[in-house]
Amino acid sequence: MRILISNDDGIYSPGLAALATVAMRFGEVVIVAPDVEQSSMSQAITSSRPISFRKTALPGFEAYRVNGTPSDCVALGAFNWGPIDLVLSGINLGENLGNAIWYSGTVAAAKQAALLNIRGLAFSMPAGEADKEPAYPLILPWLEKALVLLLAHPDIRLANVNIPTAAHGMQWTRQSCRQYDGKVVPATDPMGRKNFWYTVTPITGAEEGTDRWAVANNYVSITPLRLDLTDDRMLEEGQLRHPLHR
Ligand code: MN
Repeated sequence: MRILISNDDGIYSPGLAALATVAMRFGEVVIVAPDVEQSSMSQAITSSRPISFRKTALPGFEAYRVNGTPSDCVALGAFNWGPIDLVLSGINLGENLGNAIWYSGTVAAAKQAALLNIRGLAFSMPAGEADKEPAYPLILPWLEKALVLLLAHPDIRLANVNIPTAAHGMQWTRQSCRQYDGKVVPATDPMGRKNFWYTVTPITGAEEGTDRWAVANNYVSITPLRLDLTDDRMLEEGQLRHPLHR
């Protein structure tokens, strides 16, 4: 099995090295990742300028850094170093739960794989733990267990996995879709001009069975995702209430 590893935190992230180390037990690994951090880039692709890659010295790995987005990396990686059987993205330094799935570059790299008909799996861990060496021995055995589980279900083409540091089990979950928790905070720059920070306010009370609920209860959250955004219930309702004839 040929595995492409990418992320949105950039090629020098400790999370990426940790994921690549686990992936090596499952197949042949090639790393193609952004040259600088690309968090919150979602599914962006670079279409207004050409992109290029540089071979990068990551001990023990074949690795390339790209001056582009996570999605660019997966598309370029599949083109240049394919055929690729599996794309693993992460480990993101910060959880990707609920609404964050819409913004995440980590999840987008896995989605880009699915768009290319390659399996894509995204992995994230709590931001505060990501800089601490002792967190990895706690996280990585769960990452391997989740990977084994997902590989045993080949029908799952796209999934989002979040691993809390104090995990004591795994749960299949759905995406939490509580109202958007985004917030804009006005501020002033040193020249007295107005500027704005995008931030979030934590939403409390995660719905049971969701990704946020699982992680809050120290479970590894495994959410199968799909690319089809169609609201099937509303489609049916629209067709029933307002039939449109050809
Ligand atoms: Mn990130």
